[in-house]
Amino acid sequence: MLLTPELIEYRDTVRARAAERIGPFVDVLDREQRFSPEVWAEVRDLELFGLPFPSAVGGLDGSFLAFTVATEAVARTSASAALYPGTTVQVAATLLRHGTPAQVERWVPTMVRGDAPVAWAFTEPQTGSDPKQLQTTAVPDGDGWRLNGQKLFISYARQAQVAVVFARTPGGSVGAFIVRTDTPGWATGTPFELLAMGGGEPAPIYLDDVHVPGDQLIGAADEGFQAMIAGEAQGKIRAAAICVGIAQRAIDEAATYALQRTHRGQSIATKFPTIQGLLGEMEASTLAARALVHHAAELIDRGGDVAREAAAARVVAGRAAREVTSAAMQVCGAYGLTRELPLERLYREGKFFEVAQGVAEIQRAIVARHVIADHAG
Ligand SMILES: Cc1cc2nc3c(=O)[nH]c(=O)nc-3n(C[C@H](O)[C@H](O)[C@H](O)COP(=O)(O)OP(=O)(O)OC[C@H]3O[C@@H](n4cnc5c(N)ncnc54)[C@H](O)[C@@H]3O)c2cc1C
Repeated sequence: MLLTPELIEYRDTVRARAAERIGPFVDVLDREQRFSPEVWAEVRDLELFGLPFPSAVGGLDGSFLAFTVATEAVARTSASAALYPGTTVQVAATLLRHGTPAQVERWVPTMVRGDAPVAWAFTEPQTGSDPKQLQTTAVPDGDGWRLNGQKLFISYARQAQVAVVFARTPGGSVGAFIVRTDTPGWATGTPFELLAMGGGEPAPIYLDDVHVPGDQLIGAADEGFQAMIAGEAQGKIRAAAICVGIAQRAIDEAATYALQRTHRGQSIATKFPTIQGLLGEMEASTLAARALVHHAAELIDRGGDVAREAAAARVVAGRAAREVTSAAMQVCGAYGLTRELPLERLYREGKFFEVAQGVAEIQRAIVARHVIADHAG
């Protein structure tokens, strides 16, 4: 589907405002790897939090497609900033899908307004991919649950007032719990220094006999896995949209450079077929990735099963981000390696997304499972 003129106008507005207002904070997010309340406020002002939600819960009656378009537009300036709404939107969507009306009424409007970051605590020291290896436990305790364990690499762990924590319940299933971060027994550790994308300060969380009231279990005690899978599918599409933003910025930088850089009086863009070949490949990969991201986002809007397309979008866009940023550095020669241009940052961000928010190998395995099921007779 082609974007409507309204969506294109909105995208261009977000892109311009992000460049103007978030641009000055890129180094805080990237080099200093600090959470920036200023960037959070800017992203909130761009209304990304409310975009994919109905007005009944305080949203803007937009669409997930519009959200991914806006996410790409912000990522063109800063991938870290584009990640800011992610876990909060993911948790709000999970509550709308699996929560009780009382939970929706209590928690969702504040998330849709973007009042404060909400954390999504799945990953543990032993795994960031496999729910069967989760070791955090939730055992019934009076009128609620008692949580014990450790989470790792949790974005906004230190800023969030609320988190969704995934834990094993008796019988071996996974439950999803809304946990207030001021609950006794909740503690966070020091954020990791990262190759890129440290603006969410991903940190460990320690859960030591954390009591969670019974009405803060999302869905049934064995529904956490489905909630996690659906939430992660949205997360993958968001991450893929960020990858497209990274790739698009790399193209813009490389094309601008190639037109200005001359070789014996002629721009390298018009003179060298090798440079044109690189630019052509970069554009083709990015267009393909964007089309797949929009397709997957539209499936979300229609309420369809999106597991295959989300994983495929994640594979294609992740590869595009890494390959396109690498090619852009090639186009720009030595300048591409300096910090005069943003390409070395974009390159680090491209690599980041081959690992985090869904390792590429597992995404390929998910797509393959669908192919095999299609052909298994
Ligand atoms: C900046 C940052 C922010 C993050 N934020 C969050 C957050 O907010 N919440 C959260 O829960 N997590 C978060 N994470 C964790 C992140 O999502 C995981 O690190 C990521 O999913 C990879 O998990 P892992 O490190 O355990 O790798 P593993 O799952 O251990 O994978 C290691 C390697 O083993 C291979 N492998 C593993 N399983 C399979 C399989 N089934 N098939 C084939 N190959 C396989 C893959 O090749 C992979 O490269 C964050 C991470 C970072 C770096």
